Amino acid sequence: MPSAATIQTLTQLSYLIAAALFILGLKRMSSPVTAVSGVRWAGLGMLLATLVTLVFVGSSASAFNLALVVGAIALGGVIAWVSGKRVAMTDMPQMIALYNGMGGGAAAAIAAVELYGGNEHNVVHLTMATIGGFIGAVSFSGSLIAFAKLQGLITKSVRFSGQKFVNLGILLATAVLGFMVITGLHAGAPEVSAFFALALLLGVAMTLPIGGAMIIAGTVVGAAGTLLTQLMAKAMNRSLGNVLFSNFGESSSAAAGGVTGTQKAIEASDAGVMMAYSQKIIIVPGYGLAVAQAQHKVWELAQLLIDHGVKVRFAIHPVAGRMPGHMNVLLAEAGVPYDLISDLDEINAEFETADVALIIGANDVVNPDARTNKGSPIYGMPILSADKAKNVVVIKRGQGQGFSGIDNALFVLDQTRMLYGDAQAAVSQLIQAVKAAG
Ligand code: NAP
Repeated sequence: MPSAATIQTLTQLSYLIAAALFILGLKRMSSPVTAVSGVRWAGLGMLLATLVTLVFVGSSASAFNLALVVGAIALGGVIAWVSGKRVAMTDMPQMIALYNGMGGGAAAAIAAVELYGGNEHNVVHLTMATIGGFIGAVSFSGSLIAFAKLQGLITKSVRFSGQKFVNLGILLATAVLGFMVITGLHAGAPEVSAFFALALLLGVAMTLPIGGAMIIAGTVVGAAGTLLTQLMAKAMNRSLGNVLFSNFGESSSAAAGGVTGTQKAIEASDAGVMMAYSQKIIIVPGYGLAVAQAQHKVWELAQLLIDHGVKVRFAIHPVAGRMPGHMNVLLAEAGVPYDLISDLDEINAEFETADVALIIGANDVVNPDARTNKGSPIYGMPILSADKAKNVVVIKRGQGQGFSGIDNALFVLDQTRMLYGDAQAAVSQLIQAVKAAG
């Protein structure tokens, strides 16, 4: 039997290796080429951390507690496996919101055990538990609201005047209670309960007003969610404070219905001929491409055009689709080479020299109102300048609006033609048309 000191050293060493595996995994997840192996490395880290905790630390736990832990892991594992296998690509944001929420809930639960337990703690432990409990509780309730919105269970954003002051008031009251808990000032179970109740309320209050153009998975979720939110906020040219405290995403009916003009339809056969005789085409994928699962057909079309001598590029907006990297993942799955894919900064100047901008199921990310209409909820958000192309062909099923619920001035421009239909079917027709054009 190894000594207690040896067990302690082995445990710490294992945690260090697990942490290194997490970091390596995260690093590899940052590129679509290495993302799958990144998930595996991080999973290995989690397995190691869990096993070590069970074997070394859990050896001193009672049989009943160990059985509870193993049972919870088995149950959670089965639920995660089944839901991970079944979830549709378009429902991934909701899934991530739920996962983030569960992570926050777990952190809050651990903190609650510490704070309710009333064990002798020094101020550092109490501070860590209080901060962890706060972030966890806010994340938990905020993520559940984000989930409900993404799933369409909550369709309205709750807003009232003075809302940001109410939110600030809840934040301050939570901070006061947290301070009392840390310093031990009248900090019994009622104060701890009030602290958690207010933190949960704050998560709800912060997430409820965010709507329209932006409610993302894990909006207020600890470090991971904050990073995601910051990425989104940057992509939409908004500050984090603006997103959380200013009812961001609200669309006025004037802005939503402000576009005048008529959309002009085009047949796939005509669009195909135009594309076959183009020199340069920029393809802009959006949420509709994900819904239709059209990525393989789109790559088939692109290859055909390349064989015709057309220069083809893919332009990806950072918030296209419903989660960061959504379009990159789909195009990578279809086998589109990375050197054909450009992000907004790289490609935007090139639209002016494109013969055709082919928009496939994208809407908000190519809405020129973001540049010109100060009343628009997406005003100021950088967009892909598809409207600068000589011709624009838009594939969508009908007159449906995008996520932000506003009309799109691009669709009524002189050089724009609408190819109505499901993205996969419409792209298949384009393939036939390009082939027929010789
Ligand atoms: P979008 O603005 O939501 O527009 C998607 C368009 O696709 C719709 O107008 C719809 O029009 C069309 N469509 C739907 N199903 C289709 C199908 N089967 N075939 C063809 N077209 C179809 O999409 P986006 O331009 O990608 O912009 C993303 C939006 O989501 C932004 O507002 C962004 O802020 C928001 N958002 C992004 C994230 C993220 O992390 N990426 C997260 C949350 C929210 P029809 O109904 O007429 O077909």
